[in-house]
Amino acid sequence: MSSLEEPLGLESLPKLSINRLHSFNSSSYRPVLNRMEMGSCFLESNEESSPRRNQGDTYNNSRNGNTKSLNSTTAFKEDEFRNLSYKLISCWPKFVKVVEVGARDGLQNEKAIIPTSVKIELIKKLVYSGLFFVEATSFVSPKWVPQLADAKDVMEGIKHIKDARFPVLTPNIRGFKDAIAAGAREIGIFASASESFSKLNLNCTIEDSLSRYREVALAAKKNGIPIRGYVSCVVGCPVEGAISPSKVAYVAKELYDMGCYEISLGDTIGVGTPGTIVPMLAEVMSVVPREKIAGHFHDTYGQALSNILASLQMGITAVDSSVAGLGGCPYAKGATGNVATEDVLYMLNGLGIKTNVDIDKVMEAGDYICKQLGRPSGSKTAVALAKVNGKL
Ligand SMILES: [Zn+2]
Repeated sequence: MSSLEEPLGLESLPKLSINRLHSFNSSSYRPVLNRMEMGSCFLESNEESSPRRNQGDTYNNSRNGNTKSLNSTTAFKEDEFRNLSYKLISCWPKFVKVVEVGARDGLQNEKAIIPTSVKIELIKKLVYSGLFFVEATSFVSPKWVPQLADAKDVMEGIKHIKDARFPVLTPNIRGFKDAIAAGAREIGIFASASESFSKLNLNCTIEDSLSRYREVALAAKKNGIPIRGYVSCVVGCPVEGAISPSKVAYVAKELYDMGCYEISLGDTIGVGTPGTIVPMLAEVMSVVPREKIAGHFHDTYGQALSNILASLQMGITAVDSSVAGLGGCPYAKGATGNVATEDVLYMLNGLGIKTNVDIDKVMEAGDYICKQLGRPSGSKTAVALAKVNGKL
């Protein structure tokens, strides 16, 4: 029996059955700013008789002087807390772009090799959920990444899909040419902030990788192809350990100057916390505009959502995530996948932030690929909602 069904030590209280969670979703209560009066903020409920809404009413009454029992110290504290709430909530963006990386970053780091038809079906399901940016594959050597050896066939299978963008990764000019020949209309280039990881992953130094990308970027510009830049190991490397924010800023700026429309900053092994992510972002933001930065967090230590929240509070409005938390890192023992798209959507929905993505449809895509891989979902939201819906 799970702790949800029988809270420990609370036998005398009514049991919280899993069925009672059925009607709940993360957007049942959303933080709302009262624009009439700066500093006021309360939780708005979808339910008429919400006790939290009543709490908000109490605030209003107290402002109108109707709650006479409050002494001045209590009122001062309430003002302080309201101001604090306002500060926290007002800095969240209204819209966040979610970039789905499961079909590339996710599957390339799964042990199993998935049939091409399954990859195509997965991408279709992800687009159907409302995801507009879906990383499709990578034009790298099949010797290095056998999981994505079918890049050309995947592109053939999705070329008819409109209303979505499919960035594909290209490590060099040869990969770029192959990608364009296969019909790619957007590419990604990826460098590392760690010298050791660059040698492991790209078989060259950071400077050599940047030289290669300048050639790719020039070719992309000539062909009118948008380029997304990626930086890996932005806070930690499996070989070097901690990475200096100034190194991340240097690589990010180089990619930005090459013409990348967005720089995705990857905590590839998922070791970051807001304590390391915030100073790293601050350093990068000093050289790359914040609206050109995306957060790409892995969830190895369960820190991805807190890192995303900290990023949002710093003005970041683009987040990479992977359906069902697919993925990992072959060079870092125990590193888990990207933060799950379902978990990101659950949090963003709860914050009242728009994404234009249907979480239920993403869960269907996650269910589909997990069955193909024969593994449980890496999304806590998907697991919880599957239980609620009686599927587990
Ligand atoms: Zn990743």
